[in-house]
Parts: sequence; C-alpha cells; structure tokens
Amino acid sequence: MLIHADRLREFAADIFTAAGTSREEGERIARYLVEANLTGHDSHGVVRAPRYVQWLKSGFIVAGVTPTIERETPITAVVDGKYGFGQTVTPIAVRLGIEKAKASGLAAIALRNSSHLGRVGDWGEMAAAAGLVAIHFVNVQGSLLVAPFGGVDRRLSTAPYCVAVPLPNRAPVILDFATSYVAEGKVLVASRGGKKIPADALIRPDGTLSGEPETLYGPLGAGDRTPENGEGAIRAFGLHKGSGLAFMCEILGGALTGNGTCGPREQERGRITNGMLSFYIRPDVIDEPAAFVARAERFIAFYKSSRPAEAGGEVLVPGEMEARNRAERGAKGIPLPDDTWASIVAAARSVGVEDTHIPGAA
Ligand code: NAD
Repeated sequence: MLIHADRLREFAADIFTAAGTSREEGERIARYLVEANLTGHDSHGVVRAPRYVQWLKSGFIVAGVTPTIERETPITAVVDGKYGFGQTVTPIAVRLGIEKAKASGLAAIALRNSSHLGRVGDWGEMAAAAGLVAIHFVNVQGSLLVAPFGGVDRRLSTAPYCVAVPLPNRAPVILDFATSYVAEGKVLVASRGGKKIPADALIRPDGTLSGEPETLYGPLGAGDRTPENGEGAIRAFGLHKGSGLAFMCEILGGALTGNGTCGPREQERGRITNGMLSFYIRPDVIDEPAAFVARAERFIAFYKSSRPAEAGGEVLVPGEMEARNRAERGAKGIPLPDDTWASIVAAARSVGVEDTHIPGAA
C-alpha cells in the first residue's frame, strides 16, 4: 500500500475518534504517528494504531487527559501524564520546558505516567523549533524487552535517548534512537513483512544471536504481537556503552521522574508508561548565537568531508536521514507492508469505521 500522508492522517484520526477519543485528540495522535512514517520511522508510525486501540479499550490509555503539575520551581517541573496519550500529554510537558528555558535560560522537566509518547525526535524538534537545545532521557515502565550487556534475560526497556540542536538554515540536527540494537517497533514491522532486522539484533535464552522476530514474539499469527509470548530479548546497542546509556535512561527517565523503571513490574501487566527527563538550554546564555552557529557549521562541514567508507556512500549528520525521508515520502507517499495495512484496517473495523472511510475498501 502506498498512501499519501494526508489520507493516512485522516484515516488514522477516524480510527482513534471511533475508538473513543475526541476528534481533536484523534487528529493529534494521527499527526504524530504519520510524522514518524514520514521521517522513515515506521516502527513508531501507524503500525501502532491497533495496539493503541487495544490499550484504549482495556483502559491502559485514558482519552482526554489533562496532565497535572506535581511540583514546580522557575526552572523545573514534574508533570504527571495520568496515563493519557503521549501525543496529548507530552507536548504540554515540552511546552512548559520551552517556556521556562526561554525565561531562565535552562529548564529540567520530569514527565511521568505518559502512555507511549512515540518518536522522541518529535519533542526534540519542538524544542529546536523554539531555538532551544534539548536532551531527553526516556524509559518505558512495564516494558521488559532488552538484555543488558553480558546477560540474556530482559532487564531493560528500549529506553530512547534524544539530543536536539537548533541550527538555522538546515533541517533540525536531531540524534534520536532507542538504546536497544533495534527499536521494538522495528521487530514489529519485520514481523509484519516489512524491513528485516539485523541477524544479530536479538538474543535467545541460550545466548545465541537471532534476527527472527519469533525470538521476541513467539510463533507469529495474524493477530497483534505480544513480546510476552517470546522467550528471547533484543540486545542493547553498542556493547557495554549502549547498555550503560540504557541503564541511565532507566535511572533518570524511570527512577528519578517517578515513572517507575522497566522492571520489576510495579503496575498491572500490559500497561506501559513512558517517563522522560528533559533538559532545555537557551544557547545564548552560553555564547553569542552567531558564534555558536558558525563553529557548529564549520564542524558539520568537516565531519561530512570524511571520505566515504563505501563507494557512493556518504557521511550524514543526525537528523539528515529523517529530513530526506520526509521530503521523499511527503512527495511520493508512505509505503506500508500489506500485513501492517491489514492489521490497521482490522483495527478500524473493530471500532466501527465504515468501509467508505477505509482507503481502498469501498
Ligand atoms: P535508528 O536506529 O533509525 O537511529 C536514528 C538516529 O540515527 C537518528 O538520529 C538518525 O538521524 C540517525 N541516523 C540514521 N541513519 C544514519 C546514517 N546513515 N548516518 C548517520 N546517522 C544516521 O532509530 P531507532 O533506534 O530505530 O529508533 C526509532 C525511533 O523509535 C526513535 O524515534 C525513538 O525515539 C523511538 N523510540 C521510542 C520509544 C518509546 O518508548 N516512545 C522507545 C524506543 C524508541
């Protein structure tokens, strides 16, 4: 299926609205999911819709939540997302951080109990668009998926990390990745016929490496994938260094924010929440913005001038791949594997979306 972003947004919004959100919230969730597809992160795109619908039905996600500020100083705040959609509660926490950093030069915001907040790069981009540097440590309470360096048992979430830097005259510089070798959504996409994952991305209980989604999900059927059915784990990226960064995401994003760490399980099975500790810096409190930009641009040119390792290859800066994908997919449409599309259509029908609203069905 190749579908234009506008059409996909409308369809996804129809699904969430039929599942019980307001139209405004449904459109907001759809916008962020489709943005993930546009940037090339299909793992955090509309493939998530069936799971969100299921979580909404089971009460793990609550529609229409207004987050509360639990503690506050001029440069800090603790925001409780109260299990609302990450796409609803996270922008409120990020906006608070932006306001505080704009006023004081620096801010730290702890977000707890947000449901899945999607592609962390969205939040970095939001801060960069406001002229701020942003650093995010994120964890996933209740989601045990990743084996630490030296172990085979799941002891970490995919705990993403993101750094965003505003530089005028170029796409936002955004480093944004899961600390697992691959994001869980990439295993999900592979399990549905999409891009394969590397052959050493997963680890079985006996310590052997695997690239088969069954290692994480168990035998694959047509229904939703549940990591609880699999016996293996995703490996942390970058040996002991990635495992150490993931550990810090759990400590800062999970333990310090009050979200709770990925395990041992503190809440009911099935409910996952993202915790995010974010730092926002106004560059001009450190140096003349023009001087910073000139130094950064000189470095970027130097970095990219490295001779390619492979013929026809190229050195990219963080965020460059996403900017390219956005341009290409924005123009040509978003490709979705048949299995992903079938699961989204099934989720749409399960909440009563009429065939006349399902692209290609009527
Ligand atoms: P990834 O492995 O695709 O890495 C993305 C990062 O690497 C980006 O900064 C990108 O610009 C950079 N990059 C990509 N190709 C490059 C190249 N050729 N040269 C240089 N840099 C390059 O990302 P991932 O680990 O699969 O994560 C995907 C998404 O999943 C992220 O947006 C992340 O925030 C999200 N995520 C969210 C959660 C959650 O609980 N909400 C959990 C895990 C991951």
